[in-house]
Amino acid sequence: MFSNAHHSRALHIPHRLDSGYARLHREMNSLLDTLHRPLRDLRISVTDRCNFRCTYCMPKEVFGRGYDFLPKEGILSYEEIARLGRIFVGLGARKIRLTGGEPLLRRNLGQLIEKLAGIEELEEITLTTNASRLVEEARALKAAGLKRLTVSLDSLDDAVFRAMNDVDFPVHRVLRGIDAALEAGFSPIKINMVVKRGVNDEGVAAMARHFRGAQYVLRFIEYMDVGTTNGWRLDDVAPAQEILDRVRSESAIEPLPANYPGEVARRFRHIEGGGEIGVITSVTEPFCRGCTRARLSADGRLFLCLFAAEGFDLRGPLRDGASDEEIARLIAQAWGARGDRYSEIRATETERKAKAEMSLLGG
Ligand code: SAM
Repeated sequence: MFSNAHHSRALHIPHRLDSGYARLHREMNSLLDTLHRPLRDLRISVTDRCNFRCTYCMPKEVFGRGYDFLPKEGILSYEEIARLGRIFVGLGARKIRLTGGEPLLRRNLGQLIEKLAGIEELEEITLTTNASRLVEEARALKAAGLKRLTVSLDSLDDAVFRAMNDVDFPVHRVLRGIDAALEAGFSPIKINMVVKRGVNDEGVAAMARHFRGAQYVLRFIEYMDVGTTNGWRLDDVAPAQEILDRVRSESAIEPLPANYPGEVARRFRHIEGGGEIGVITSVTEPFCRGCTRARLSADGRLFLCLFAAEGFDLRGPLRDGASDEEIARLIAQAWGARGDRYSEIRATETERKAKAEMSLLGG
C-alpha cells in the first residue's frame, strides 16, 4: 500500500486535488491516525553511530567492530533532512528533536539546525546528546538557533557511569559539557537518567540532589525493551514508584500539572530549593494514547512507534525526484493507517516481536 502514492482511502483525501497544495496542506494539518492521534512531534536520528556503548542500548557484543553501520551515502544529507522536516511541519509537526546514535558525531550539525530554524510554524527544536562533545559544540549550537538541550546521564558515580557507557567515559567530562551548555545560554537543561534496577538505581537520590534548581529539569526514565539486543527483563525495570520513593527519601516533592495534554512525564517539584523532576513511566503506565511522535531514521525511514520493526522508506522517493506533495501524501497515508500502541500490549508481545534498535531510531 505504501508504495502507491495515490492510495488515499485511509485519509479520505480525494484522488485528484481540485485546489492544489494549499488545500492538501489544510487537510493534512488535521491528520489523525486510527486512534485519533495527531502528528505533532518529529524525532530525527541524524546518525546511527555513537561513541558510547551503553550496555542497555548499544551493547559492545552486538555493536562491535564487525557491526554494519549505515554507509555514508545511505544517510540523509542536511538538505534532505530539512526538506523532510518542512514537509512534516506541513503535516502538523510543531516540535523537532535531533537525536541518534550520538547526533554531535555528525559534523557541523549547526548547519542543519539553521535550516530547520527557518521553518515557519516549527515551534521548537531540541537535541538529545550524551554531552561528550558539548564543550566544543555548545556555543555553535546556540548560535545556530537550537532552543533546548537534553543531556543523557545515568549516574554521578564515576565507576557506575563508566561501566554503563562501557567506553570508560568519566562523569566529570559530561558535567563539563553541561556547564559549557549553561554558559552558552541553554537553561533549563533537561537531564535524562535511564534507571536500571541493581545497576544505577542507588544513585537516584544523588542525581535529584545534584540537579536541583531552576537550571535543570531531571527526568528518570524506566528502562524499556527497545530493540532486541539489550536482553531486557521486566525485573531490570525500576518502576517509577520505586524511583520516586528514593527521591522522597532525601527531598520533599509535590506533583505539578502536565504542561500540555499528552505530556509523557509525570512532573514534580522540589518543595525546598525549587527545581523539577519527572518520571517517564513507559513500562508501568504506558502513554500510547497520547503519542503524537513520528521518527525518522538516519537513512530516511519513517517509524510510527519506538517499538516498530519496519519503517516506511522516504529516502527512495526523495532521491527519485518525488515532489513535496507526493512525499507528504506518503507520510499522511502511513500516519492515517497508524494504530501502534506497543507499550500497552507489551506484556503479551515483548518476547515475540521484532523491533528496530534505539540507536537507529533515536530515543
Ligand atoms: N546519544 C544520544 C544520548 O545519549 O542522549 C541520543 C540517542 S540515545 C538513544 C537517546 C536516549 O535514549 C538516551 O537518553 C538513552 O539513555 C535512552 N535509551 C536508550 N536505550 C534505552 C532503553 N532501553 N530504555 C530507556 N531509555 C533508553
